[in-house]
Amino acid sequence: MEKLEMIREYSKLLKLNYLKTNVDKILETAAVKDMSYQDMLLSILKGEISLKDKRAQEKRLKDAGFPVIKKIENFDFNFQKSITKKQVNRLLEMDWIDRMHNLIFLGPPGVGKTHLAISIGYKAVEDGYKVSFVSMDKLMHFLKTKEISRISKGKVNKILSSNLVIIDELGYLPITREEANLFFQLITALHEQASLIITSNKGFEEWAELMGDAALTTAILDRIAYRCELFNTSGKSFRLEHRESIF
Ligand code: ADP
Ligand code: MG
Repeated sequence: MEKLEMIREYSKLLKLNYLKTNVDKILETAAVKDMSYQDMLLSILKGEISLKDKRAQEKRLKDAGFPVIKKIENFDFNFQKSITKKQVNRLLEMDWIDRMHNLIFLGPPGVGKTHLAISIGYKAVEDGYKVSFVSMDKLMHFLKTKEISRISKGKVNKILSSNLVIIDELGYLPITREEANLFFQLITALHEQASLIITSNKGFEEWAELMGDAALTTAILDRIAYRCELFNTSGKSFRLEHRESIF
């Protein structure tokens, strides 16, 4: 076997993907720049590390399960004045995730709750955190079927091993008492293990009605609110204001 081919073969065996793909370029650059042996080895190792980081980030982004990607750069703070850019920038520093604080965005439809939740989650992925995004109704489905479905079990395990769990749209669909119980168990399991972002169109006082059990709701709220930042997003629906018309 030719030496170059052997390098590629061994790189593959050792999963050195950067070297495998770039060996020609690395050797050429080293020759052109008259690199020292040390510098050449360093550049290979750096290339390997940054490729691994990139792959890991791509995997975290896929695992996060965002329905769409929303970025904070595209959020119009003049339209949504209940939260300031300064506050969001503070949140984007992400230290609240290390301290396992929770964020709650309450408000009517279309005011940007999901946009904010995804943008913050996206930045968390970029910063190396494990994130899971799930709508409340999907979450209920996964929790109810985790014993009989491998997919659901996998999703629940992923949620339980996340640093940040985003639960979107709590309150849109009614919750049975069994579901409220499962939700309570999940919140208990995540308590002081992970941060939560919850978006809801219902105020806290309506949660009890939604879950049909005041004591359980109090216990859930108690855990969530223990370390929590609450944002009451109000205003008009961005969707309705920026509706695209055919005419
Ligand atoms: P909610 O979750 O509060 O119902 P969304 O976050 O889903 O609302 O927002 C609805 C749509 O409007 C999304 O496409 C979102 O990107 C956009 N949107 C909402 N608020 C803003 C805003 N302040 N700036 C830019 N886009 C916004
Ligand atoms: Mg939403």
